[in-house]
Amino acid sequence: MKKTKIVATIGPVSESKEILKELILNGMNVARINMAHANEEFLTNVVKKINILNKELSTNVAVMVDLEGPQVSIGKLMGNIAYLQTGDKIRIYMNPDLLGDSTKFSVDYPNLIHEVKVNTIMKTSDGLVELKVLDKGKDYLLCQVMIGGYIYSNRTINIIGIKLSMPFLSEKDKKDIALASQLHADFLALSFVQSSEDVLKVNDMLININDSHMSLIAKIENEDAVEDLDEIIKVSDGIMVARGDLGVELPFERIPGIQKMIINKCHYMSKISIVATEMMSSMEKNERPTRAEVSDVATAVNEAVDAVMLSGETTIGKYPIETLRLMSKIVETAEEDTNYYQLFDNATRTEKQDTTGSIAYSVVDCANRLRCSAIVTPTMSGYTARKISRFRPKYPIIALTPKEEVAKNLACYYGIYPVKITALKSFDDMMIKSLDIVKEMCQLEEGDKFIVTGGYPFKDVKHTNFMKVEEI
Ligand code: PGA
Ligand code: MN
Repeated sequence: MKKTKIVATIGPVSESKEILKELILNGMNVARINMAHANEEFLTNVVKKINILNKELSTNVAVMVDLEGPQVSIGKLMGNIAYLQTGDKIRIYMNPDLLGDSTKFSVDYPNLIHEVKVNTIMKTSDGLVELKVLDKGKDYLLCQVMIGGYIYSNRTINIIGIKLSMPFLSEKDKKDIALASQLHADFLALSFVQSSEDVLKVNDMLININDSHMSLIAKIENEDAVEDLDEIIKVSDGIMVARGDLGVELPFERIPGIQKMIINKCHYMSKISIVATEMMSSMEKNERPTRAEVSDVATAVNEAVDAVMLSGETTIGKYPIETLRLMSKIVETAEEDTNYYQLFDNATRTEKQDTTGSIAYSVVDCANRLRCSAIVTPTMSGYTARKISRFRPKYPIIALTPKEEVAKNLACYYGIYPVKITALKSFDDMMIKSLDIVKEMCQLEEGDKFIVTGGYPFKDVKHTNFMKVEEI
């Protein structure tokens, strides 16, 4: 049973019910819809299909809606593509209706002309094409193509080192948040967060629309976010290491260090960490990943990230199902090499524990010492399961909950297998259900042990207060 979760982005090649089903069966825990590319109809349809599949397959796959956020995009190009020649001078117009080609294109942010400076560097096509501002015209920027290549309609253009004055949430983002809430999405990913203030703004909006369910994942994709990292982590439920844009905005050689730092800080502060982008990108075209990609996924797993993410591989790639299957295999194998004692040790050093945290510590210590096959925890809010996950046990955490939204929220946490159950009637009922479920999920044999932990009596208890070791 793999413990590291997989977030897969859904796109044209994966939106059908059949493919979504195969993605789930091959290890997808969270389906991400990127609103920079998807529209309302697409999101609504995918959510409907995931809901149906969760019922059919008795799974708890969560939905993550990823906002477009404050980014500047290239306007429409003739044929949707153009080639910029290194050394050429081109013009970037502020008129969004202009049809672009290899000598000119438009952007969707007219203020850009006032906010960039001469010598500002701009990059597009995932950083492969680089432009430098030479001069400003009346309604255009004259730029030199420093590194040429293909550019595409509607693609992000990263403006390096300039803090744009564009509001964090556009009208479109606000509409997308409202829709995500209506559809009961589980996670909202916030693109191009620059400070903790940005996250708080979204939180305010969720309060205004009475949404207490969606968890906020801040995407770290530029220098400002890295600088305000600690504060951003504090106010978010989780962090995405958005290596795609991060590697364009910052020198790419800084990515491994930033990735490691973010995973450690999230682990320390009990927040979700997700490593994203280009994890298996050669599989957009090939049936097998490169050795370097295999190592990249394994490295994130050994750093004990909560989830690894797929983007182009499952949105436009040729082999979405095979990518999921192989990623699950790499993850499971890497988990065998993970140093669980080290992770446990790190977790114990780092945070003051409340009662639930202290029991969680004992549970994981005990499970590791006795080589228990699983840890079962009935939970109403998911809190106990999340606390146990923080100690990164070597064995799966089976979280039993009557609440669907709790089950789906837990889908993104390391090692947690949420299972929906009917409300527990008594202590005996809990023990019987736990045994039945763990037996079926973990194929236990005589002599195998597992731990049940939770709070009792169910009605009055405020925290986890017992652990029981069971032997088959
Ligand atoms: P994106 O975010 O796919 O929405 O751009 C992830 C990244 O930048 O890595
Ligand atoms: Mn991005």
